[in-house]
Amino acid sequence: MSYTRPPTQQNPWGAPTNPWGSGAVPQRAMMPPGMGYPAPARPGYPAQATYAPASTKPAGSSSLILKVVLVALGVIFVLIVLVKVMSGGGTPTPPPTTTAPPTTTHTTQTTKPTPPPTTPTPPPTTTPTPPPTTTPGPGYQNADYTVPDPDLNPPDLPFPETYGDAMTWIVDNVFYQQPIPVPVECQIPDINPLAASKADLQTYLNDSTACLMRVWGPQLQAAGFNAARPSVTVYSGQIQSPCGKMPNENALYCGADQQVYYATDLPDLFPAQATDPFVPVAVIAHEFGHAIQAQSGILFGERVWQQEMSDEGDDATANNFSRRLEQQADCFAGAFLQSISQSAGISSDEQTSLAKVFYAIGDDVLSGDPNYDGDHGHAANRVRWMQTGLTAPIAGACNTFADSVTDDQTR
Ligand SMILES: [Zn+2]
Repeated sequence: MSYTRPPTQQNPWGAPTNPWGSGAVPQRAMMPPGMGYPAPARPGYPAQATYAPASTKPAGSSSLILKVVLVALGVIFVLIVLVKVMSGGGTPTPPPTTTAPPTTTHTTQTTKPTPPPTTPTPPPTTTPTPPPTTTPGPGYQNADYTVPDPDLNPPDLPFPETYGDAMTWIVDNVFYQQPIPVPVECQIPDINPLAASKADLQTYLNDSTACLMRVWGPQLQAAGFNAARPSVTVYSGQIQSPCGKMPNENALYCGADQQVYYATDLPDLFPAQATDPFVPVAVIAHEFGHAIQAQSGILFGERVWQQEMSDEGDDATANNFSRRLEQQADCFAGAFLQSISQSAGISSDEQTSLAKVFYAIGDDVLSGDPNYDGDHGHAANRVRWMQTGLTAPIAGACNTFADSVTDDQTR
C-alpha cells in the first residue's frame, strides 16, 4: 500500500484524534524523551493487524504482520531521538538558511599530506623531458563550497505544526528536487578501520563528514535549509549522550544534539568488510542521511506520524514509517557514494562490497527471522535503496515516502 496525499490542506487525513487538538502535532516537549523507539519486545504480538486504516488516514500497513521476535538485534544503526525540548512550533516552511557561527572546538580537520613529488632528475641528454601533463579536472561539483567546521551548537531543526505539514514534508519535500552532484572531489585515506586507534578513527570519520558536507551542504542550502555539519564521536562501551545511553554495535544520528556517534565494535556486524576503509564512511553517510532528513524537516515529519500510529496501537504502520525513513538514509548514503566514487576511487566491485554491509544489517538477517518486520527494513530492501542512490539523478529518487513506493518495497 502506499500513502495517499492529502485531499485538502486542512486536516488532510482527518487528523487523528489526539490530545493536542485538531491537526496539531505534539510539541517537542511532549514527545517522549529517550531513545525514541526501542526495539519492539512484545513477543506474541497478534498476527493480524489491529488497525484498519480509515480512508482519511494515510494508507498504512494494515496488511503487514508484525512478528516481533527478539529485543536486542532489532535496532541497528540509528536510533533517532526526539528529545529536543524547546518551543515547538518551528515554521512549517523551511527555515531561512542561516549558517550558525561554527564552534571550532573540534579540531579534526587534518588533511592527509599528499606525498611530495619525486625530485626530478636532470635529463641526461639534451632532450628535455616534457613537463608532466596535469590531467584537467573532471569538473568537480561544489568545488567552490567552503566546508564549515563541525557545528556543536547548531540551529534548531524544523518541526511541523500539523500532521498535514508533517506529511507534506516527508512526501513532497523541496529537497527532493535537488540534483545529486556528480562528481564531487573527496579523498579517502587508505586506513584499516580495525587497526586504527579510537582517536585516529574519530579523526578519519570527522574528515569524512567534510566530504559529506561538500556533497550535501550546497544542495541543502539551495533548497532553503540549514546545513550544519555534525561531529562524529567514536565510542566504546556504553556512553551517555543527549539521546541516552549509546548501545554497542551501533552508529546513530542524535536528533537532540544533531551529532553522530559511532561504536568501535560496530564492524562486528559485518566481519567480512571490517577492514575496508570505505565501510565506516558508508555508515557515516547513512547517519548523515538522517542529518539531511533532520534539517529538511523529513525527520520530525516522519516521527510525528510514527508516534501517532504507535499511540493508536498500530505498530505495523508505525514501523513502516520508520523503515521508510531508514531506507531513505540508505539511499542518501548510496547517492553520496555515487558522488565521490570517481575521486575516491570506489570501483563497482567496491560498491558491491559496500552493498553487502547494508545486507548484513537487514532486520531479517540480524534477527535470523525472514518474516521479521522491524524498524529498519529487510536486507534486500536496504541494499536496493542503497543501490538506487548509487544511480540517483536527484534526491527525489530516494523518496521512500512517495505514493508509488509500496510497503513491500520498504519492508
Ligand atoms: Zn538510520
